[in-house]
Amino acid sequence: MPTSPTNRAAAVKEASSRAPRASKATVNANGQPLKVSDYFGEHAFGLRELRAKLNADDWRMLENVIEHGEPLSPSLATRIAGVVKDWAVGRGATHFTHWFQPQTEWTAEKHDSFLSFDDNRKPIDALSASFLMQSEPDASSFPSGGLRATHEARGYTIWDPTSPLFIMESGATKYLCIPSVFIGYNGEFLDERGPLLKSVQTLSEKATKLLHLLGETGVSKVVTTLGPEQEYFAIDRAWYLQRPDLMMTGRTLMGARPPKGQQLEDHYFGSIPERMQAFMSEVEYELYRLGVPVKTRHNEVAPAQYEAAPVFEEADVASDHNQLTMSILRRVAKKHDFEILLHEKPFAGINGSGKHCNWSMAAKGSKQGANLLEPGENPRENVRFLLFLMATLKGVHKHAGLLRAGIASAGNDHRLGANEAPPAIISAFLGQALSRVLDEIESGGPASNHPVAPYMVKVGILHLPDFTKDTTDRNRTSPFAFTGNKFEFRAVGGSASTAFPVMLLNVAVADGIVDVTRRLEAELAATNDVKAACMNVVRALVKETRAVRFEGNGYSEEWVYEAEKRGLPNLRRTPEALAQLVSETTIEAFTRLGVLSESDVNARYHVRLEAYIKRMNIEARTMLQMVETMVLPSGFAYLKELTDGIASAKAAGMVAPQAEIASKIGAILMDIQAKRTALATALAKTEAHAEAAEQANGFATVVSTAMDETRSLCDALENEMSDSHWPLPRYREILFIS
Ligand code: ADP
Ligand code: MG
Repeated sequence: MPTSPTNRAAAVKEASSRAPRASKATVNANGQPLKVSDYFGEHAFGLRELRAKLNADDWRMLENVIEHGEPLSPSLATRIAGVVKDWAVGRGATHFTHWFQPQTEWTAEKHDSFLSFDDNRKPIDALSASFLMQSEPDASSFPSGGLRATHEARGYTIWDPTSPLFIMESGATKYLCIPSVFIGYNGEFLDERGPLLKSVQTLSEKATKLLHLLGETGVSKVVTTLGPEQEYFAIDRAWYLQRPDLMMTGRTLMGARPPKGQQLEDHYFGSIPERMQAFMSEVEYELYRLGVPVKTRHNEVAPAQYEAAPVFEEADVASDHNQLTMSILRRVAKKHDFEILLHEKPFAGINGSGKHCNWSMAAKGSKQGANLLEPGENPRENVRFLLFLMATLKGVHKHAGLLRAGIASAGNDHRLGANEAPPAIISAFLGQALSRVLDEIESGGPASNHPVAPYMVKVGILHLPDFTKDTTDRNRTSPFAFTGNKFEFRAVGGSASTAFPVMLLNVAVADGIVDVTRRLEAELAATNDVKAACMNVVRALVKETRAVRFEGNGYSEEWVYEAEKRGLPNLRRTPEALAQLVSETTIEAFTRLGVLSESDVNARYHVRLEAYIKRMNIEARTMLQMVETMVLPSGFAYLKELTDGIASAKAAGMVAPQAEIASKIGAILMDIQAKRTALATALAKTEAHAEAAEQANGFATVVSTAMDETRSLCDALENEMSDSHWPLPRYREILFIS
């Protein structure tokens, strides 16, 4: 690995002299600029495109498959496969693959060629129905949490027609991706997409039942909507290649704070640097072609940090599209000599990256407008809104531990509870206006005159119009904040797959809806007044869920004490958070609602625990290696230079001004050696535990502590080291030179 000081100097030169790469040509054959709408979705093939290619009977049959779970007939499957193949081959694809999300936070693919032979061994391009519908990767090579042993290899990927097929382009190669769920030989879920779909279906059943009870019998189903805002860092690749920690773990394991971080607040919403702009434009071009509706781009708070946010879609498609966003960001970055860091906390001392999951529920076939969390002009009278709001709060309150488990990872441990990120305590923020409505309902008092929406605010400048303000202010410290007509699950980590936390949120809320429905049915048995019955349910739930509502500063120390008084869990580290996945409450809810079996839930716990252990292990080993091969040797070399200088000064009868710094560095080097040994010992002890839970606990405690202590010594050394001797790119360079 190129890490000598000369290379670091070369990297400064390289990174600072790069020109923006020319953006992709987006002009048509006549040289006219292309509009985004001209190429949006040209590499995607969804139900709309399929409908246009199928005859009316075939389409009706396919609709029955999707809406009513009827089996897909082999002849229809063959016709669909033909249509799909013609489209993909016509666009230059030579291969196809089932594209799925094993429990690695990543996606997986295995390519097959369209090449086939007819009866006369003439080569043809073909996609058989069976290949479109189903494929068989080796299930034992993906994490299964013990569900599949090495000798039990069978697993199947099954095409999910509700997510659009798409063509991926890699250099000159194009291949068709078939979004699929991944299922084991005995029907167990081995991926993230399957459970997400199941949770959406369950929430839909429960929510539809409640809506029917409210008289909205036209509603045929309810979908969950998701708009994940993706935060990320983009740094010059020259830095990345010189940091073993970034390459191995995605974050810096050491690095002294530069004098300037984000304190001047000069990066947030700043104008996007030209080289970065060229990169973003190419990312957007690729995503648009894939039908991913990225909408917003801006600089984030930390230096070198950015964000991309899409227009929301149904949760399963949005979750696929977020995977594509992450993978296109990485892929295009290489062409622009950037490296993308999706890690939750790549740099200490400045903000980390989250993936704010904007989430709501929408009714299909409803006359009243789709979004179930839309308060409308008069929320106090809007019983549908109030009931679904209370169902959400009930779910979040009852399953706070589960939601915490959904965001638990080695990376997010560094972000949750740190200064800029939501705390590890799950609570919900509603905002002043809505809180007042709930308070009034609870006390049974009359509605106050405060308008809820729209609020008009006077600017006071003659030529500027009054503006309308939102019903809620923002609370950046809340992990789960109501933002007008949706909740924003802010605590999700930047590198996470959205499928898992959103699946858990769906389960929690589905459970809340069941609770609301049960209460409403009981009320309705005693009265015909639906509105009064609803308000009784709402009132009871406002009281019951009061503890989970928090409007104040989630970063404050007082909140930690207050939350404890309220009985809210504060699970700081991944192992204790993950344990909530297998709590009695969780297993009971999953099995009663029929989303996952007990063994499927257990498997998820083990997969995540293993992932945590492996990541922590890699981090500890990388740190040891960096200390041994880079930090200590460069420290010793510098010390030798200093002591040589001292010796010659003394020989010449002069004072040696290096003496002070030499003794300081000597002392830090002694400490680093001692800590390195302590870290190695803690690591060995932790690895020796037989139980995964004990190992994870060891990593969360003794190993983490030893790593933190080693880091602060390395950072102290870095601050004393001459620029020419320090072997690692410094924060100042990584964050500010590109
Ligand atoms: P805000 O400014 O409050 O963050 P935006 O309108 O900018 O709200 O939306 C932020 C994200 O939330 C976007 O990705 C957007 O598509 C998404 N979003 C908006 N409405 C919904 C909804 N009903 N369900 C899910 N996501 C939504
Ligand atoms: Mg943001």
